[in-house]
Amino acid sequence: MDEKELERYARHILLPEIGGAGQARLLGAKVLVIGAGGLGSPVILYLAAAGVGTIGIVDDDAVDLSNLQRQIVHATERIGDAKTSSAAAAVAAINPGVTVVPITERLNAGNATRIIADYDIIADGSDNFETRFLVNDACFLAKKTLVSAAILRFDGQLSTFKAHAGDGHPCYRCLFPEPPPPDLVPTCAEAGVMGALCGVMGSLQAAEVIKEITGAGESLSGSLLIFDGLRTEFRKIKMHPDPACALCGADATIKALG
Ligand code: ZN
Repeated sequence: MDEKELERYARHILLPEIGGAGQARLLGAKVLVIGAGGLGSPVILYLAAAGVGTIGIVDDDAVDLSNLQRQIVHATERIGDAKTSSAAAAVAAINPGVTVVPITERLNAGNATRIIADYDIIADGSDNFETRFLVNDACFLAKKTLVSAAILRFDGQLSTFKAHAGDGHPCYRCLFPEPPPPDLVPTCAEAGVMGALCGVMGSLQAAEVIKEITGAGESLSGSLLIFDGLRTEFRKIKMHPDPACALCGADATIKALG
């Protein structure tokens, strides 16, 4: 690290759990953020500020006026721009030392393996179950750590999945074996979401990514954190691997995406 980097990251380097070695790991890390929306915004901003060396951003959408109530990586002057390039502009303003890889594609079974391959850790902030299951499967098959968050109305969930690491680590399918029928679960576009809730959950998601990279503290793998924003209550529920899981169980049937 040069003198400017030592100054920029001084408050991390002071922490014994991160220190110079942890900061060096952050500078060398490659994180893929799926969705530059409500959750992706704080994730991208905090990872950029933290000096994560390479941030890939997957999103095929453009910035819309109705996004700006919560998607704080974007700006009024960038309405109509691709969310990937808008987020890249915000990252450049915070920390020009970070390399952003804009991936302006919709993640699907055909491209997920290729896109994920280049990264150490995946942060999923997508807004639908189809993508969430696809990312979980792709990460397990590629042996990548996944930090996954979800939000709706005033409620949030967060966990880390690394079932490839072996005993005691569940995957997302251990918890939810199948996606719910699409018409059963409302989206934020249908049901609404408090903007600041995205900041609460996205900031926690960024913190867990930083912990996974630096090894600070305890991993959230094996626990599901649930936030009730109306009561301002957190609950942490223990999760166990499902031996019958179709993805990570002993007799797994899912061997490829699609
Ligand atoms: Zn599983």
